[in-house]
Amino acid sequence: MDPRLSHDGALLVLNSGSSSIKFTVFQVADAGKDISPLFSGQVTGIGTAAEFSVKDVSGVSLARESWAERDTGGVAPLLRDLIAWIRTRLPDLPLLAAGHRVVHGGAGFHHPVRVTNRVLDELESLIPLAPLHQPQNVSAIRVLAESFDGLPQIACFDTAFHHSQPFVAKTYGLPRQLSEKGVQRYGFHGLSYEFIAQRLRETVPEVAEGRVVVAHLGNGSSLCGLKDGRSIDTTMGFSALEGVPMGTRSGSLDPGILIYLMREMGMDADALEHLLYQESGLLGVSGISNDMRVLLESDRPEAKEAVDLFCYHVAKEIGGLSCALGGLDALVFTAGIGEHSAPVRSRVCSYLRFLGITLDEDANDRGDTAIAADGSLPVYIIPTNEEFMIARHAVDLMNLRNAA
Ligand code: AMP
Repeated sequence: MDPRLSHDGALLVLNSGSSSIKFTVFQVADAGKDISPLFSGQVTGIGTAAEFSVKDVSGVSLARESWAERDTGGVAPLLRDLIAWIRTRLPDLPLLAAGHRVVHGGAGFHHPVRVTNRVLDELESLIPLAPLHQPQNVSAIRVLAESFDGLPQIACFDTAFHHSQPFVAKTYGLPRQLSEKGVQRYGFHGLSYEFIAQRLRETVPEVAEGRVVVAHLGNGSSLCGLKDGRSIDTTMGFSALEGVPMGTRSGSLDPGILIYLMREMGMDADALEHLLYQESGLLGVSGISNDMRVLLESDRPEAKEAVDLFCYHVAKEIGGLSCALGGLDALVFTAGIGEHSAPVRSRVCSYLRFLGITLDEDANDRGDTAIAADGSLPVYIIPTNEEFMIARHAVDLMNLRNAA
């Protein structure tokens, strides 16, 4: 065991984006067996007028401050200030480690890793695979390494959980040389699926051993087919664009559209990237909002069409993943929309009677954990917790390292 774990301490979990840093601080006690969240927060608007906010576990605000004046030198000074704030708040709880959500682990990282200089270089070499997120993930790790010498840092990947997928799920119908160069399906939201697989094992072990589709429906949405808790197939692929239409991302398209847009509309890579990541999905189709709540409340036909399109594609993917799994034993909804939107769950499930799924609409409206009608396959709402998964991995890795 890492000697640091013999005393209670704090563990910082970071999710660094291009204009925001989201974080959760956990208390680690009982030699790493007890991991409990203390507070979560974010620094938003980095690069324009940064704002810092923190809430405790029951949602009570602990701080809300403008950090605009400090927002002059990129992410590094803000991260250092964030850690200084945590230390002031928890003077008696030493910082044990930092766990990072890293979007891409490429073909090589199948598990979380303790970060070394070599690992950092490898993560940097994966930037072309995830140019919008990987640079921020890497730079947060570098800043902490430079500022807090010896602080253990653990990288946890969105892609790693999917490495168990078979060739047919991972491979595009492209020349083999391209697959060998990394043009393959990686899948994302892996930390969320891993958390759900663990939660199923703890709560309904007989279901966890079976064939389960998990619908992670949030601002980014994907679905995953699990067999005995392992990923068999997922809807996101090479990038986080593939699969169902999302808040602002297009989801799967005919690749011929890209050729057409380049040739006939003069779009280059940057313009396509902006179109597909920022202007499409629910926002693009509705012309109103990327937020499901706004669309469900709107009486404009474009809002209804966008919601219908989303639910249709989610249902279609559940059908496809059931085929990949050789049948279906249970369905799980998670993430912002999956956990909170009864109308979306209801609409999605209205397509799934042929699979043996019927909702108990009252249980669905209440947001119960088990929402299937009598005689239906089980359908669950399970809140995801990627931050906890990262904390768990960080502690496990610190234990293993030093036991070896
Ligand atoms: P996430 O990315 O998992 O944080 O999910 C964020 C998204 O969940 C938001 O953009 C909303 O569209 C959606 N959401 C959150 N609460 C609700 C709700 N009560 N009803 C419908 N959608 C919701």
